[in-house]
Amino acid sequence: MRPFAYDKARSIEEAASIVSDENAMAIAGGTNLLDLMKLQVETPERLSDINRIGFGEIENTADGGLSLGALATNTETAVHPRVRADYPVLSRAILAGATQQLRNKATNGGNLCQRTRCFYFTNIDQPCNKREPGSGCGAIDGIAKLHAILGTSEQCIATYPGDMAVALSALDAQVQIASADGAKRTVPVRDFHCLPGDTPWRENVLDDGEIITAITLPPPVKGTQIYRKVRERSSYAFALVSVAAIVEIEDGLFSRADLAFGGLAHKPWHDPRIGEALIGQPPTREAFDAAADILLADARGFGENDFKIPLARRTLHAVLVHAAEEAA
Ligand code: SF4
Repeated sequence: MRPFAYDKARSIEEAASIVSDENAMAIAGGTNLLDLMKLQVETPERLSDINRIGFGEIENTADGGLSLGALATNTETAVHPRVRADYPVLSRAILAGATQQLRNKATNGGNLCQRTRCFYFTNIDQPCNKREPGSGCGAIDGIAKLHAILGTSEQCIATYPGDMAVALSALDAQVQIASADGAKRTVPVRDFHCLPGDTPWRENVLDDGEIITAITLPPPVKGTQIYRKVRERSSYAFALVSVAAIVEIEDGLFSRADLAFGGLAHKPWHDPRIGEALIGQPPTREAFDAAADILLADARGFGENDFKIPLARRTLHAVLVHAAEEAA
């Protein structure tokens, strides 16, 4: 790890001004950032602790939803009574995401901004367009088991590694953002992360000087909430494929199917056409296949990760069968 200066921010304005300095970074839980600093993937000259600027509350919103402070921990979020009662898909995704020790430190804002675990990205001796633009992508013809099958580019095929954001995408949560000049804006989680395109180093829509203050959940809806994560081992590992689903079946037909997918792309994958294809259909293999066909129409494997294409289909089937059994 390279030497760095350390201080503590005391206000949101101070924190936001820190992140507008290209040589400085903000640290909250640090569960991803410190690893990257040890590997010298991140080399800030100044690290500013933002844990004392507020934004750690989880509170009801006026419309019946819930606001999750950006600096609330993943543990506080996963065990919150309203999250468990009204948004169980979120609680389950967080609990599937990391060990208790990591959840106790990791914050909601940091979780959204965590970086890919691509082997070439975290190894500074390897080519990686995301870490060093123009150096190439080692994964495209290399170790790519964890890599994306949807939304890839010739520049980068990395996946977004998190679980929490996949559930937030299915829930249609909103990211609340503030900047140093006092401006505020709201971005749907579904639009927060970017596909790699020609700028794989840009992973989300945060501009310089912007910081996440909260994530807001809409009022709860009826239906079964499921988070299914397929990984290489049963203890903690990143998703090969995950599905977050909020599904309702009334009178034998799908009346709601909000679905998001992890492990498949550079962002949590949400395609509204998948849910729309299920609405009004009975829970049959034909309906499940039609939904999977939409999901995977443009899927492309890179050798080692070809298995993800049939795995994504099977995982979607399993989730929809589970939802139908709950509704029966
Ligand atoms: Fe880098 Fe992306 Fe290629 Fe991995 S997949 S080596 S992160 S450019």
